[in-house]
Amino acid sequence: MISGRSVILGVIGDPIKHSFSPYLHNSVASELGINVCYVPFQVKSADLQDAVAGLKAMGIKGFNVTVPHKERIIPLLDHCDADALAMGAVNTVVNKDGVLFGYNTDGKGFLYSLLNHHQVPIKDKHIVFLGAGGTAKALSYVCLQNQVSSITIINRSLAKASLLKEELLTLNLATDICVLQRDDLACIAALSQADLVINVTSLGLSADDALPFDSTDWFRADQCLFDVIYNPKETRFLSLGREQGLKTINGLTMLAAQAAYAFELFLDVDAPMASFFNALESM
Ligand code: NDP
Repeated sequence: MISGRSVILGVIGDPIKHSFSPYLHNSVASELGINVCYVPFQVKSADLQDAVAGLKAMGIKGFNVTVPHKERIIPLLDHCDADALAMGAVNTVVNKDGVLFGYNTDGKGFLYSLLNHHQVPIKDKHIVFLGAGGTAKALSYVCLQNQVSSITIINRSLAKASLLKEELLTLNLATDICVLQRDDLACIAALSQADLVINVTSLGLSADDALPFDSTDWFRADQCLFDVIYNPKETRFLSLGREQGLKTINGLTMLAAQAAYAFELFLDVDAPMASFFNALESM
């Protein structure tokens, strides 16, 4: 147990008001009797460099990084873990005696959520990503590491999806990777054959957002839909799937698991997974 002065932790992003991380980390620390104060910091993109230098100078023990800083923070850190570098995104920074180390726990959190919490296997499965942003990169990277059968990336911007494919191919993991623009007719075939379809766009955050893919004709009752969005708890994408008998998973369990892995890195304790899931349920 850590005693004496509070360990100061935080999260930087813009916007930041919506973040559940302060509640989760503070609740778990309090339950475990660890003296932590986890604070949200709104940091504009133009201020990122100064903010990181300031957090380091003030001896903040660690902080999470959220939209839009996950990629741009990498060159501002002293060291970056190999997985985070491969994903090109950092969501957790640990200050070890004035040296900043970057990690990414989103991929691990996603895997824990799927494999351990929801018992959805991915080995030898066909996976479709709707979206090609930073989160798509982290999640497709761990899918590749876990021997999925194929990955199809469907995105509004084909150029961005193609860039993601190029980055994934450099990892030399023998998996079939295909990219498609959202309005390509071949999308329906890929979606129909998918075992798991993951929404990694930000579509669904607002009730009046379009669906991440226009049609749902391809739904099959033995498919699983995963939406990284956790607020609202059920996006229209998920509710349409649930109504047609598909297994649906929102982003909350990924959120709790990535937070537990970040807590482990911050405080050098085993990831208190059950405590983070309990905190989530009591929100
Ligand atoms: P990015 O900004 O990197 O990527 C956004 C993606 O959404 C891109 O593929 C973009 O397409 C697509 N998109 C955005 N608007 C539209 C639109 N109007 N029509 C079609 N496509 C659109 O975001 P992130 O990858 O960082 O985040 C994605 C989501 O993941 C967010 O909602 C975030 O909150 C959530 N998230 C959840 C976590 C969890 O723990 N549950 C952890 C991390 C993120 P294009 O390339 O064409 O612009």
